[in-house]
Amino acid sequence: MIKNFHSEVMKLYEQIRKSNELDLQNRKKEIESNVPEILDIENKIQKLSLGLSLAAIKPGNDRESNINKIKNEIMTYKMKKSELLVANGYPMDYLDFHYDCPKCKDTGYIYTSKCSCYKKYLVNVAYKNSDLSISLRSNNFNNFNINYFSDDAFNSPISPKNNMAKIYKNSIIYIDTFNKHNDNLLFYGNPGTGKTFLTHCIAKELIEMGYSVIYKTADDLIAALKDAKFNNNDSLYTSLVDCDLLIIDDLGTEQLSNFSKKELFNLLNAKMLRYKKMIISTNYSLDELTDIYSERLTSRLFGNFTLYKFFGDDLRLKLKRNTIKNSTR
Ligand SMILES: [Zn+2]
Repeated sequence: MIKNFHSEVMKLYEQIRKSNELDLQNRKKEIESNVPEILDIENKIQKLSLGLSLAAIKPGNDRESNINKIKNEIMTYKMKKSELLVANGYPMDYLDFHYDCPKCKDTGYIYTSKCSCYKKYLVNVAYKNSDLSISLRSNNFNNFNINYFSDDAFNSPISPKNNMAKIYKNSIIYIDTFNKHNDNLLFYGNPGTGKTFLTHCIAKELIEMGYSVIYKTADDLIAALKDAKFNNNDSLYTSLVDCDLLIIDDLGTEQLSNFSKKELFNLLNAKMLRYKKMIISTNYSLDELTDIYSERLTSRLFGNFTLYKFFGDDLRLKLKRNTIKNSTR
């Protein structure tokens, strides 16, 4: 996966360079019509630079003095060019090539090592491929607030807050040891108890660590599996199976058919055989899942996934209520 991402990142750099080249051509055209004199000077500088390279390889006693003479001429013209640009209200570097990253000149590399901007683009490509939209990226551990969860255990042996603290801690361990385990997670429980939020947090961390993550709602996943099967979209199927982590959100909301049940089962098996991990979230209880899916599928889920039960108040309603309360104060 990461290798495919690399060629996508390289394409991005190419696009950046092309667009910067186009911008420069447009700036030149603008100057040509507004202050043509400046472009004349620029042409002279170009010719002199060419002459300079020729003088450098031409043997003879006067080689050194020729070189210096041309260098001085270039310098004079360059100063004249800058003065004219500024006098006409343009920045001094208006006719220079502009790089998004001057460090690597938008190549991604400084000699043989990767530039710091490379990771930024890699993460962008990885996000695009993960199906996680930009708006979901704000779901990250920085915005995680354990105080949203109630301290009151009611009839449970543990309060929602303590339960969440435990799940949170285990999620961090899951991320930190991601390349050392083959654990799959099943988040189940009522809507609005933080399951989807937590899967986004985990996805974000792993993407930024360089793992390939694909996020799909169960509905989208079934649509993708159909596309893969009926349109022979092999690369789509391969990416679902081979990605380091596949997150299936909202299991049970997809259109249930023999096709979806069978393909889902096959996908789980294929991933487990390759030791590729999954996180599944569902609003259903374990009993309800058993009713919905076949014995085969649920025994895979319950036998090969670590189960985490989410419970407590509906956070979405709670947050909404707080916002309303604060805005009417
Ligand atoms: Zn760079």
